[in-house]
Parts: sequence; C-alpha cells; structure tokens
Amino acid sequence: MPKPATPPPQTGASRRPTVAVIGSGFSGLLTAIHLLESDPQLIVRLVEKASAFGRGRAYSPARPDHVLNVRTSNMSAFPARPNHFQDWLRAQGEDADPARFATRRQYGDYLQALLRDAMRRAGGAGRLLLEKDEAVEIVPQALGGYEVRLALGRGFVADAVVLALGAGLPAGPPQVDADVLGRRTYVGDPWRTDLSGLPDGEILVIGAGLTMIDVVRSLDRPGRSILAISRHGVLPRVHDVAPPAPPPQGPMATPRAALKTLRRHARAVGWRSAVDSVRPMTAEIWRSWPESERRRFLRHAQPWWDVHRHRLAPAVAAWLEQPIWGDRLAVIAARLEGLSCAPRGFFATLRRRGERQGFQQRFDAVVNCTGPRGGFAGFPLLERLAARGLACPDSLCLGLDTDDEGRLRLESGRSAEGLYAVGPLTRGAHWEALAVPDLRRQAAALAATLARDLARAVA
Ligand SMILES: Cc1cc2nc3c(=O)[nH]c(=O)nc-3n(C[C@H](O)[C@H](O)[C@H](O)COP(=O)(O)OP(=O)(O)OC[C@H]3O[C@@H](n4cnc5c(N)ncnc54)[C@H](O)[C@@H]3O)c2cc1C
Repeated sequence: MPKPATPPPQTGASRRPTVAVIGSGFSGLLTAIHLLESDPQLIVRLVEKASAFGRGRAYSPARPDHVLNVRTSNMSAFPARPNHFQDWLRAQGEDADPARFATRRQYGDYLQALLRDAMRRAGGAGRLLLEKDEAVEIVPQALGGYEVRLALGRGFVADAVVLALGAGLPAGPPQVDADVLGRRTYVGDPWRTDLSGLPDGEILVIGAGLTMIDVVRSLDRPGRSILAISRHGVLPRVHDVAPPAPPPQGPMATPRAALKTLRRHARAVGWRSAVDSVRPMTAEIWRSWPESERRRFLRHAQPWWDVHRHRLAPAVAAWLEQPIWGDRLAVIAARLEGLSCAPRGFFATLRRRGERQGFQQRFDAVVNCTGPRGGFAGFPLLERLAARGLACPDSLCLGLDTDDEGRLRLESGRSAEGLYAVGPLTRGAHWEALAVPDLRRQAAALAATLARDLARAVA
C-alpha cells in the first residue's frame, strides 16, 4: 500500500492548483485518477478515514467469498476501456471470463492496483498525496478556495473540494425504543459492525435486498433462524443472460408511463435486457419528472425497480436455494410496528401486509438492512458545511443538492464555487448513482467539469 506522502513546498507564485478529494472509495479514487490525467500541473490530495485507501465500503477483504453483483464484463473502472477489469484479472493469472462474478476482494485489489499506478505516474512530481485522516470541516478562504481541516488537527488549502463520502447511514426504523439502540445485539448498520459476535437463535432482519442477503451469508450457521421483512417481501431477481437491447421507444413523462413503456419493451426483448437498456438514460428520465412524480416513484415503484435492477449473482441465488434455507430463512411482506427490549433479546411487533392485526415475536438479535437514510445522516462534515450555508439536502432528501454536473447547490439555487460531489450522495440529481457502471461515468464527467472550472477561474 502506498504511504501517505509529504506535499512539495509551495510558495505563492509557484502554487499549483490543488483539489481535495474526500473519500477514496470507487467514486473518489476514480475522480482523482481522471483529475490527474486532465492536467499535468494539478495536485490531488485524497483524504480517507478508513484503514485502506481505494476499497471503500464495498470492496474490503473482510469476507473473501462475497462476490460482486455485477459481471466482470461490466466492472471496468473506465467507461472508455470496457475490458480494463478483465485484462487486469488476466494479468494476475485469475479467471477473466466476462460472464463470471469476481469476488469483492479481487475488485478491491483491482482498485488498489489503480491507486498504485496513479501514485507511480503522479509520484515523481508529488501530485497525488494521500491523507490518512477524517475531514471534519471545510472552511472557505477569504481569497478563494477552502481549508480542509482534519480530525488530528492538521489542515490544508485546496482550490476545490470533491465530496466522495459514499452512502449515509441506514434509515433506523422509527418504531424502535431508545434503549434498543444501545444493545450490542441490535445492529443499526451492518457495514460498520462485526456480526460475528451476534448470538444464535432467532434473528430479525429488517429489509430484504442485497444487504440482507450479505448479512444472511455472514450469519450462516446452524442454530440460527432468520426472519427477513420488507414492504413487499420480494427478493432481488437473479442475473441471467441478457443480450444488449436498444432503449425503449414510447412515453416516459411519468413513472406510470415509463413503467408501461418498459413493460412493453420487456415483452419484446426480455425484462433483464429491457431494464439494462434504460440505464444510460435513467438520469435524463429522472430529471424530466416533476418532483411530485419522483416522489410517486419512490413511494410506489422503487421496491420493484430495485429488485429488477440490483440483481443477485447466480451462485448466490443457488446458495440461497439450498434446502437448509427453507428452515433457516423466511422472507415475508410485513411492517415493523414496534421494537422493545425483552429480558433476553427483543420483542418485535410485526404486521403482515394486508392484515389488520399485528403479532408479537421474540428475537435474540435484530439487524437493520434498510438502505441509506438519505440527507446528511452519518456525515457530520456535511452538517457543518450546511451550517455555513455551503450545502443543502436535495428536495427529496436523498443526499446533497447538486446541479447536473456535480457542483453543490446553495440555498439560493446558485451553484457553489469550487465545491463538488460524486457518488451516492448525488442521487437527487442522477437517481442511479450507486453502482460502478454509473459511477465510472460520473467520476470521469465530474473530473472534466472540475478541470474546466479551474481553468476558467485562472484564465
Ligand atoms: C457491500 C456492497 C457491495 C457492493 N457490490 C457492488 C457490486 O458488486 N457492483 C457494483 O457496481 N456496486 C456495488 N456496490 C455499490 C458500491 O457502493 C459502489 O460500487 C461504490 O463502491 C461506491 O463507492 P463510493 O466511493 O461512492 O462510496 P464508498 O465506497 O462508501 O466510499 C466512501 C469513502 O469515503 C470515506 N469517507 C467518508 N467520510 C469521510 C470523511 N469525512 N473523511 C475522510 N474519508 C471519509 C469512507 O471511509 C469511504 O472509504 C456495493 C456496495 C456495497 C455496500
């Protein structure tokens, strides 16, 4: 792993443009790489609070058997080099079959190789500097630019700052007693918690998407029985052959019209190909809907979109179909209506979809697998930025308000100078800003925008 570097000394006249990229997961790393390529003078300071640069939340080696949920053929980090990940796997002597689902650890190794490569190419001139610390405050400077303050007390000045902080904390179910949250056997965020200490017995998992399936894989052992609940009780669909199809033709002006058009297209080309065919246009379609229609989509259509869009690798689906899971895992459509502490474990009040009467059940542990809460939850840095009037949540509270090119938008509606965001925090502007095929385009486009803005500012 490259060591954090000391920046070259800079004086007023020789000061080279500097961009701070906060967060070194996929989005931050790729933005940094594109920025370094865009301008040979530019210095990038990549700030990361986690122990490893480049892996982010998704691609740590914690569970070496966890696989990607996107095929190797679609996981290149670069939109213009679609075979890049395959070529890298081949060069490592690994199976580079494009239809395969590589492990997340391999993907993390790939991202670290990209980081090493970027360090090597930029290293001679000291242009990529790694800051192993948490960014806690961003302070505008009188003469332009921002000071990025770090948790250990240091700070540095940059002309522009990119927020690549990932997705926020999961939404906590509102019907939970306060004393539940303090219990070790209530897991509020499975990505930041070691699940190995959870007891055997009955486990309630709230949510039934890909995170639930990861959690079930981590909890897998005899003596445990898992109940997963979600609004509709449907599991993510499974990947299968999906030949590329042209985008659908037909009205898309509202979620209802888009769904009708997509269904017709699915009958002609197959549902997987139909869903994949709209991915390059989702941001455009999302932005074309008035806010009321976007809200309608989130309320009624999102669960269905998610299960068709975020699919399971076939090997994971086959693992879930093992006969043992008939006894150990049940997935039902139900709501959590209350959660309180029992002498040992918890009492949950659940109500099945369509039923008037709830029922109570005891669980030994509870794991919250609902998606990110949205807004600024889990990001004190953003709360402080908002307090300075430099950031606001988007109107649907999915993340940060940004313009279509990634500049933060101020309360006045004006784009902030020198402040940008990339990744899941920008869902308000893009909707699909979660997976590599979307984020690689976003990172490349943001770096181009930022380099243009910087060039304009010094002209
Ligand atoms: C378990 C899991 C599996 C996934 N599998 C796939 C998959 O197979 N295919 C796919 O396409 N997508 C997958 N995804 C989606 C994945 O989120 C994206 O592919 C991508 O990794 C998101 O990267 P990111 O950089 O935007 O966010 P993150 O990976 O979350 O990175 C954000 C980084 O910012 C750092 N950070 C945050 N705040 C600060 C601060 N104040 N100071 C310093 N550092 C900070 C964090 O420590 C973190 O490293 C998966 C996601 C998860 C959670």
